[in-house]
This record gives sequence, C-alpha cells and structure tokens, in this order.
Amino acid sequence: MDITKVGVIGAGQMGNGIAHVFALAGYDVLMTDVSRDALDKARELIEANMDRQVARGKISEQDRNAAIGRISTTMTLADLGATDLVIEAATERETVKAAIFEDLVPHLGPNTILTSNTSSISITRLASRTDRPEKFMGFHFMNPVPVMQLVELIRGIATDDPTYEALKGVVERLGKTSATAEDFPAFIVNRILMPMINEAVYTLYEGVGSVASIDSAMKLGTNHPMGPLELADFIGLDTCLAIMNVLHDGLADTKYRPCPLLTKYVEAGWLGRKTQRGFYDYRGEVPVPTR
Ligand code: NAD
Repeated sequence: MDITKVGVIGAGQMGNGIAHVFALAGYDVLMTDVSRDALDKARELIEANMDRQVARGKISEQDRNAAIGRISTTMTLADLGATDLVIEAATERETVKAAIFEDLVPHLGPNTILTSNTSSISITRLASRTDRPEKFMGFHFMNPVPVMQLVELIRGIATDDPTYEALKGVVERLGKTSATAEDFPAFIVNRILMPMINEAVYTLYEGVGSVASIDSAMKLGTNHPMGPLELADFIGLDTCLAIMNVLHDGLADTKYRPCPLLTKYVEAGWLGRKTQRGFYDYRGEVPVPTR
C-alpha cells in the first residue's frame, strides 16, 4: 500500500501534532475541522512548534519550510476523499466520530485506510459503521505528538494484515515506536493511566491531599515527570472523563466509576490547559492550584 497523502480530521491538540509529524516525515497532509478558527490556530501552532525545533537544531530551516508547504486545510470533509490514509482526531465522543465516518465513506477511493486516534472507543464498533472494517484501525498517538515516542496500534476484530503492516511501516517512517494492543476499552496506555488519574482526583475529593501535595507526592515519590493532576489538565479533563466513562460502561466494573469532582470540573467548563483552568489556573505567570 503506497501512502503519500494523509487526511487529518480535527485540528485540536492532537490533530495539529499529528499533521506536524506527518508533514516533517514527507507526507502531504490535508487537515479538516468544523471550526475555521481551530484550523487557523493549528497552523499557527505548527509553525511556532517547528520554529522551536529549528531554534534547538532538531530540524533545518529547509525541512521546516518544506513541511509547512505540505500542509493544507479544508472545511469540506469530502476533500479528504483523495487521501490514502485518514486519521480521525476529533472530539472524544462516539456519536461525533461515527457521524464523521458515515459522511466521509461515500467520498473515499477503495484503498484508503481509515484510522481513529480515539483514546478509548471501540475500534471494532467504529469500523462497523464504515464500508471497510478490514481497512480500519486504531492509531493512537500520545500528547504532545512531536515529542512522544509511542504510537499504539489497535486492530479491530476485522482488521486485515496488510492494513496492520502498512500502519506499522508508517510509524517507522515517522521515527516512532509502536505497541500493539487488543481492542478492549481504553487499550493499554489509558487502561492503566486513567484509573490512576481518576484515583488522584478521588484523593483530592476525599481531602487526603491538596492539588499541590498530590502532584508533588507522585512526582518526587514515584519519579513521574508530571503529577497526575497536572497531567490531567494537559490531556483535557473532558477527555479524561470520557475515557473513564468508556472504561466504566465497557468493562461494567464499579472500580472505574469517574470521580464526581472530575465531572464537576467538566461541568464548569474547567477542562485544563486548553480552557486555561482545570486543577490549576493558567491565566497568570505561574499555574496556581484551584483547590
Ligand atoms: P480537542 O478538543 O483539542 O480537539 C478536537 C477537535 O475536533 C476540535 O478542534 C473540534 O473543533 C474538532 N471537531 C469536533 N467535531 C468535529 C467534526 N465533526 N469534524 C471535524 N472536526 C471536529 O481534542 P484532542 O485532545 O485533540 O483529542 C482528539 C482525539 O484524540 C480524541 O479522540 C482524544 O481521545 C484523542 N487523544 C487525545 C489525547 C490528549 O492527550 N488530549 C491523547 C491521545 C489521543
């Protein structure tokens, strides 16, 4: 399978990072979003992040300019029909993702591989909504994409070997490393990480520790580079809650029940860094704990 043109759906935190690494690896990238503002911001962010890589000597000015030149944007989903590989990185809500694939499928060529960057939703179920479950896979990048080495590859029940091998090859060309996971709720990384984050929120909710003491305990006590609450803000609290709900519903085990305090933050629209407030307030010079 010859992959040269890649479509990215959703230009949020993950979509812009995915477009960034694919363009640097020489792929032509077409990015789409329902929000023009999100597309414009993604472009600005990619340029700023690549400028930083140039300043640090990680990439050359020529590589940066060539990569930027390979990225285009559109608000018409059908334009992605002309791509060889589609990576869906829209909001973590199954109805949103299912509607995107249903709208996209009639415009695709027969060989286009479809993937979702979902953190938790069933790949098999998303694939079953398309005309090509054998060419559908979970393609789970980590945040921030240009920095993180891992890509989880998740095969749905129907995924065929050529599709799996093609995506393994893409990961290699990106200079990243893959880990293969079976299609069960939240796969490997988030199956383990999210209950830890949720437990940190319970620890806060029950008054065992403050935001600052929980994060510093986990950083200094377990050598994690970020505390769990700081990391939750970085991921997005809406995404964390959505993943806990998928674990809770999909595995039907009360040990995965989302902490009511996590729900409250999401209800307040305090979603972490992306809205400037979560377990920390990011509006000033330094982040200030909100509890
Ligand atoms: P985000 O909120 O930053 O961005 C989502 C984008 O999707 C927004 O720009 C929104 O306008 C767009 N969108 C919504 N509906 C759309 C539609 N119908 N068509 C096109 N675009 C649409 O979210 P994010 O953090 O980038 O997460 C995106 C996906 O990546 C989710 O599935 C999430 O689970 C997954 N993911 C997130 C992380 C993380 O740390 N945030 C890590 C790995 C995977």
